[in-house]
Amino acid sequence: MVRVIMLSPPGAGKGTHSRWLTQQTGAAHISSGDLLRAEVARGTDLGRQVAGYTQRGDLVPDELIFRILAPAVVAAARDTGGYVLDGFPRTMPQALRAAQFGADLALTSNAVIYLTAPEEELVSRLLDRARRDGRADDTLGVIQHRLAVFAKETAPLIDYYRGRGILLELSTDRAEAEVQADLLGWLQAHAVMPPLAGESGPDHAKSAGMTSAG
Ligand code: ADP
Repeated sequence: MVRVIMLSPPGAGKGTHSRWLTQQTGAAHISSGDLLRAEVARGTDLGRQVAGYTQRGDLVPDELIFRILAPAVVAAARDTGGYVLDGFPRTMPQALRAAQFGADLALTSNAVIYLTAPEEELVSRLLDRARRDGRADDTLGVIQHRLAVFAKETAPLIDYYRGRGILLELSTDRAEAEVQADLLGWLQAHAVMPPLAGESGPDHAKSAGMTSAG
């Protein structure tokens, strides 16, 4: 079963591709941002603490993130045996603690997908989303801050996972279907998931022109 981490700056498509991958595989989709927004919407004490950070585009402290995320990951593992982690981990301490947690529960991640797009494309997608969905943190100032937070806190994870040999870097500055073909091909070629019915497995992956940064 796939146990995948989606790692990407805001606007690169981790929500879209996480949802798609979950539909393809049956693994649970765990979005840290969605869980945080749900907690804020419930108006709990925890939600009130979280809201201050998310509105500014700052990272929520690791302790709060683990309190919210750990039960979801354990439930996902129990229910589906796999997960697509969308938006977590985002700091080196989170990544190291997640690795320990994964090892303890035999839930170690088997792939990390790093989605990229040029910065002006990221900003324009997020501003489009703001017009569509009205998400509170999709204003230009907060978007720019979130991108800076990604560069400082999250970008170091790219080399960490590349060093573990499980990183796939994919440009999302092209048609969604192409991104998905490359993603599927790589996961199959690396035996993270079996070929889908009607496909020919790793050969299909090679012919999809995939590139691996790991
Ligand atoms: P985006 O990737 O566009 O910023 P998300 O929905 O993934 O959107 O995250 C929204 C906000 O939730 C972040 O700006 C941050 O405040 C908080 N958040 C999400 N995941 C984490 C995490 N793993 N650690 C700390 N804060 C997080």
